[in-house]
Amino acid sequence: MSFSALNRSALLSRLQSEHFDLIIIGGGITGAGIALDAASRGLKTALVEKKDFAYGTSSRSTKLIHGGLRYLKQLEFGLVKEVGSERAVVHKLAPHLVVPEKMLLPLSEKKGLGYWLTSIGLKVYDLLAGVKTEDQRRMLTKLQTLKHEPLLRKDDIKGGAIYAEYRTDDARLTIEIIKTAVRHGAVVANYASVTDFLYVDHKINGVHVIDGVTGSSFILHGTAIVNAAGPWVDQLREVNKSKQGKSLHLTKGVHIVLPREKLPVHQAIYFDVEADNRMIFAIPRGRTTYVGTTDTNYTGDPDHVVTSRGDAEYLIKAINAAFPSVNLSLNDVESSWAGLRPLIHEEGKSASELSRKDEIFISDSELISIAGGKLTGYRKMAERVVDLVAEKHFDDRTLKTCETEHIKLAVSPFISVAEVKQYEHEIGMRIERYGFTKEKANYLVETFGKDANTILSHFETKTHIDQEEGLLISEVEFCVQQEMVSSLSDFFVRRAGLVYFNIGLVYQYSSAIASHMQTLLGWSSETLRREEDELAALIKEAIYFKS
Ligand code: FAD
Repeated sequence: MSFSALNRSALLSRLQSEHFDLIIIGGGITGAGIALDAASRGLKTALVEKKDFAYGTSSRSTKLIHGGLRYLKQLEFGLVKEVGSERAVVHKLAPHLVVPEKMLLPLSEKKGLGYWLTSIGLKVYDLLAGVKTEDQRRMLTKLQTLKHEPLLRKDDIKGGAIYAEYRTDDARLTIEIIKTAVRHGAVVANYASVTDFLYVDHKINGVHVIDGVTGSSFILHGTAIVNAAGPWVDQLREVNKSKQGKSLHLTKGVHIVLPREKLPVHQAIYFDVEADNRMIFAIPRGRTTYVGTTDTNYTGDPDHVVTSRGDAEYLIKAINAAFPSVNLSLNDVESSWAGLRPLIHEEGKSASELSRKDEIFISDSELISIAGGKLTGYRKMAERVVDLVAEKHFDDRTLKTCETEHIKLAVSPFISVAEVKQYEHEIGMRIERYGFTKEKANYLVETFGKDANTILSHFETKTHIDQEEGLLISEVEFCVQQEMVSSLSDFFVRRAGLVYFNIGLVYQYSSAIASHMQTLLGWSSETLRREEDELAALIKEAIYFKS
């Protein structure tokens, strides 16, 4: 059965009629990673997500697969070693999606660590993460730093460094892991919200689910239940009456998106904020540069997190101080996103001092909850959870050990960056005749990997008056048929990332895509209107800071 929104009812019938070894609640990167690990070890696995995959934090991060240089300052050597080493592993699993990116670290005269401390720190960072010699950090003089980035404020720079990181698309990484889990036998549904638990002899053995599409409810039976609900982990622990001891501490982080020409940095930069002691990233991506993040305590509704005017102004001020010639204002910002870090509360620590380490809680009724952690460390977090599930519930069965280090995240995976580049070049040549640029080829390959070919083959079978519209229609058809897209926002926000990185296309083509999806999915006119209203509300959230 393909992972198509058109097969949804058959899929839900399977969920209701079978008994699973493991039920995972939450389709962010954490749940996705656990589903792939468990299914590939031979556990009969189900995953339910209340909205769309990566709807929560996993579509709202800085989109870096990084070791977290900052955590070295906090002496979190174990964390840096684990996530730092994971970068190269995840890159190998999906080289089109986890792309090496050299990061520039300018050193300020007035702030931050000195030249030598930075040099030693970065060396330790490289060694802990096992970075290859040719990719290890390179220290720069003031002149070299300014040559790398002429936009930097000249009077304040005393030198710099270049070090290795990777960039990704968090929501795409999540969906590719989910699709790979499905290929390994996991049964997975979005728009399926867990509202309560079932118990026998005070031990959990199932969950109550509401189908967000039809409004009907059903029961899912399983031996082990994992709560991977990110910022909502404590809500489910409350339903399980097990929210004792440690609890979550949610902190908000926002990013703003600018047209590339407004902040034309040559490469990703990790720079000091003049106003406080924090550091933020400016990362070029396609036709834009995005900047973030903030880190502030959050106690509001996790379902409606927005970038406030104050958040956006903080970032604009930081950019103008570091790159004085760009002179940006709020009017230059095209879009934004805001996400919540599901961290573990530590008494007396501020938002940015809290550890990013993951923790597992097991309730008396045997609900396993996991929180904290990073996108980058998803594979190791999953390994720990599945080891625990295996030990607690299946020690009489011979389960395979974790093998996700070798499971590529695509049906036709790339083997190297060189192959990705060659493929992008070929796709670029192929779409040139329709008036598309090289950037479109890069977008197609970084977003869909070799499925770009499937999308284009489809596009080429039809004649289109407007090529852009034709290509978007082909993308949405692929996403409905292969990636469980069942709403406008699934496509525009999480599969194609256009609400963040090309909002103009969304304004221009959302009506055409909506009526195409109406035909594909058999929407009533009422559903169509609801879908359009929901997308309009999400766009409003992305530019909320302007209101
Ligand atoms: P989520 O992605 O939030 O997933 C939880 C899911 O559970 C949600 O989709 C939700 O809808 C679902 N759910 C909730 N309740 C229910 C229910 N009752 N039934 C069914 N489903 C339910 N990490 C990095 O490695 N690199 C970075 O660059 C980076 N940058 C970051 C920047 C910011 C601003 C933030 C906030 C975080 C960043 N992180 C980064 C951390 C990383 O994004 C998170 O650790 C990770 O995405 C958390 O994933 P998760 O699956 O645990 O949570």
